[in-house]
Amino acid sequence: MSSRPYLKEIDSRINKSDPDTFDQAIFILHDQLNLSVWPDWIRKEKPLLIFIEAKAKAASLPYHKKKLAYVLSSMRHFAVKCYEEGYPIYYHTTDQHFDGGVSEILNENKSFSLTYMTPSEWDSRKRLREVKNAFEDRITEIPNAFFFADSDAWKENIEPGYRMEYFYRDMRRQTGYLMNGDEPEGGEWNYDEDNREPLPKGYSVPDITSFEPDAITQEVIKLVSDRHQHHFGKLDGFQYAVTREQTLQLLDEFLEERLADFGPYEDAMATDEPTLFHTTLSLYLNNGLLLPWEICERAIQAYKDGKAPINSVEGLVRQILGWREFVRIYYEAMMPEVRDTNFLDFDESLPELFWTGNTNMHCLQQSLKPVIEQGYSHHIQRLMVLSNFSNLTRTDPRELNRWFWFAYVDAYEWVVLPNVLGMSTFADGGVLASKPYVSSGNYINKMSNYCTSCEYSVTKKTGEKACPFNYLYWNFVDEEREAFEVSGRNSFMVNMYDKKSDKDKKAIKESTNQFLNQLDRYSG
Ligand SMILES: Cc1cc2nc3c(=O)[nH]c(=O)nc-3n(C[C@H](O)[C@H](O)[C@H](O)COP(=O)(O)OP(=O)(O)OC[C@H]3O[C@@H](n4cnc5c(N)ncnc54)[C@H](O)[C@@H]3O)c2cc1C
Ligand code: SF4
Repeated sequence: MSSRPYLKEIDSRINKSDPDTFDQAIFILHDQLNLSVWPDWIRKEKPLLIFIEAKAKAASLPYHKKKLAYVLSSMRHFAVKCYEEGYPIYYHTTDQHFDGGVSEILNENKSFSLTYMTPSEWDSRKRLREVKNAFEDRITEIPNAFFFADSDAWKENIEPGYRMEYFYRDMRRQTGYLMNGDEPEGGEWNYDEDNREPLPKGYSVPDITSFEPDAITQEVIKLVSDRHQHHFGKLDGFQYAVTREQTLQLLDEFLEERLADFGPYEDAMATDEPTLFHTTLSLYLNNGLLLPWEICERAIQAYKDGKAPINSVEGLVRQILGWREFVRIYYEAMMPEVRDTNFLDFDESLPELFWTGNTNMHCLQQSLKPVIEQGYSHHIQRLMVLSNFSNLTRTDPRELNRWFWFAYVDAYEWVVLPNVLGMSTFADGGVLASKPYVSSGNYINKMSNYCTSCEYSVTKKTGEKACPFNYLYWNFVDEEREAFEVSGRNSFMVNMYDKKSDKDKKAIKESTNQFLNQLDRYSG
């Protein structure tokens, strides 16, 4: 019988190996769960594989309860699978962070040398390098191989004006994805213009398979419920895939049922349709259960087989080969200083509704509900509703970044930080994006049906029941006019504001002040 609470399933399925009987051990982090990208010798020699559950890491942010359950369950399933494939396993738990866990194992067991792969997140990397320095002759770090691009070869390019598009075209040439010799497939590099359709009324959206928690997942859910009750989000209704086989099933389902519509409705939002035609695969890509080239190559094959149009497939490849890789290179180039950036000097705390979901604004309700329930919302909700609202209410972007980091199941610092501090809030002053992502209610109304069931009126500009996005937006344009300047000249939007009558400007200011004064801020 296992003497370790919450680890009975692991201990009943894996005969614990004694590390002192091994020369070589590999430490596998919770987001590196795929042996196919590790060096060949590991698959040939089957050294000891070490996994560590680190309580201090789990408690370092109020991570969504489902995120913790997902991360722990998929790591446990992966360890069991490796064991069944003949790898000796040492599954360790520690009250400390990963570095503490590694030190504990190395101090207790003097015989083996340890190899680990560079962690994708900065803090874990720093911590492990300190252990590496302390146990110099026993530890080897190998480069992270879970991405297409070698970030060292690209990160010098990151500076204002170097846009994702340049990088993406180079990556298309390098991989040969959707290329005809030197020319892009179909003659265009970018089919974004075809990818901005709102969802037609009554258009059917396929369901996504849910997985019932098995015994391992149930044990993890109990652990999270007992230890992390105060964390963000709901734990009941856990339905994520936790094994590679389940993840591949979800990939097949996406390719069959949603890829063809992925492009046209990529920017659409619709009431009670939190996933639309998105892959919902980011959480699996981000911990290795699925590899980025697998999804790109399968999608390109679907295009070649005539099962999906070029705008959908190029749109997907752009997200994964383009944006996903680009933000990681940005992270490598900009860390650690970028963590403190706040170009617009916003210092308000996060609105409380980001924790509770309580608001009368229907677009916010719809964008927050799936986050609280499942730790997910799709890109346009993240960008054009949640970040937009945070910007317009002058919220400190670092607080928003922290929220996105703990609230989403797919969040890791390397991907969340560039998207929040670089893309959505303009906190880096224009290195990643050319302007802040803000809009009035018009954009939300154009891309969704949210406004039809909202108690605010999207056509009303100021005053009672006017859509708050409308006056908050114009107030932002006025107050942050420098951020909209194009080559030292006022932008179109700033000129539009300046042309408004004094009466309209006064009404914008009054509605804004009233709204901001009444907005509850999170103080927890
Ligand atoms: C404010 C903000 C915060 C974000 N935080 C995260 C995060 O914590 N983790 C995360 O993986 N993505 C993040 N993104 C990017 C993107 O929104 C998510 O990857 C996507 O919504 C995940 O859902 P999906 O798998 O259904 O994506 P799909 O729409 O199906 O896209 C396919 C894949 O492309 C990749 N991708 C698309 N856009 C981006 C992007 N901008 N950056 C990186 N990868 C991208 C993802 O791996 C995604 O799974 C954030 C975007 C914004 C605007
Ligand atoms: S009216 Fe305004 S607040 Fe309401 S859903 Fe539309 S954009 Fe959102």
